[in-house]
Amino acid sequence: MNPTPDKGANPNNQPTAADENQTSDVISIASGTSVGGSNTVFGSTGTATATAAATASATDISRISWKGSPNHWVGRDNNTVVAIVDHIMQGTMESTNGWFKNRRSDVSAHFGVAKDGRIWQWVRVPDAAWGNGIPESPDPSLDWLADGLKKNINPNNLTVSIEHEGNTGDTFTEEQFQATLWLHKYLITTYKIMPDRKHIIGHYQISARSRAQCPGTGFPWQRLLNELSGMPKPPNQPSNTPVPSNTNPINSLVDMKWLQGVSGVIITDLGVKTINTNNAYVRSKPSLSGTDNTLLRVLSKGKQLRFSGYTDAGPAFRGNVRWLLISDLDDGGWVHSSMVS
Ligand SMILES: [Zn+2]
Repeated sequence: MNPTPDKGANPNNQPTAADENQTSDVISIASGTSVGGSNTVFGSTGTATATAAATASATDISRISWKGSPNHWVGRDNNTVVAIVDHIMQGTMESTNGWFKNRRSDVSAHFGVAKDGRIWQWVRVPDAAWGNGIPESPDPSLDWLADGLKKNINPNNLTVSIEHEGNTGDTFTEEQFQATLWLHKYLITTYKIMPDRKHIIGHYQISARSRAQCPGTGFPWQRLLNELSGMPKPPNQPSNTPVPSNTNPINSLVDMKWLQGVSGVIITDLGVKTINTNNAYVRSKPSLSGTDNTLLRVLSKGKQLRFSGYTDAGPAFRGNVRWLLISDLDDGGWVHSSMVS
């Protein structure tokens, strides 16, 4: 990151209103993360049912803590994510959070990875963060970037940016390496990014002069690319093919607010299910309390809803810990699995 504006010009998009009411520091860090190399759960649009196999390869994204930043464009101006850009913070998670929360800094990234392995998120992936907007002698071997610049597309609209805690030249801790590896795999799988060095790049490849040391010589390119090289390559898609951002199921159909304070969330398309009891409580998070204000609404028997995920870390009801997440297409919220069939 840099404490100077990094959004670049983009006449077609406007900075957005504050999203403070979306922010929270209460998302818990969950254990039990796993990213299967063959995970296709996030791309599915059918009515797949969560089977044991799907569970094993699904990604628990509740280890990502939502922070929020007002510094972003809503949407990507009809572009889709093509590449990941890696950065170094030149500072700590906390100092970077301060910059990204500050409307006047004009900078942000989608994600930050701490030396101790924490992962924070400031901007939704379907939106453009302000991390890579100033092309200076961009790397000519990156076809997607050259092509985009020719069409006047701001690189922020084509990229996901990941900041890393520390200073340029720092060696990554093992925790930081494993966390950023997990995050790269998650993004590659979810957004169909090519897992190669042409699509996993450093900030210096966009801004060769002012960002020459970002992410710097300490960044573990070789180890990261070695680890990613076994991932399946997504089907070739021409770069910059317009894809509506609501085809990204993670962030578009599942509002981050449903993940706050909930551990072990697996986002996966569970298809349509039916409420099997009268007075099924829908809650803002899994809870059996009558007094914690989590009750959102009550559903009647026979109501059909689409479901987008689940957790097996909810409070047990009759010995059953599974809670299901209703799709935001059906107004979202959590319902205990015993009320659904
Ligand atoms: Zn940078």
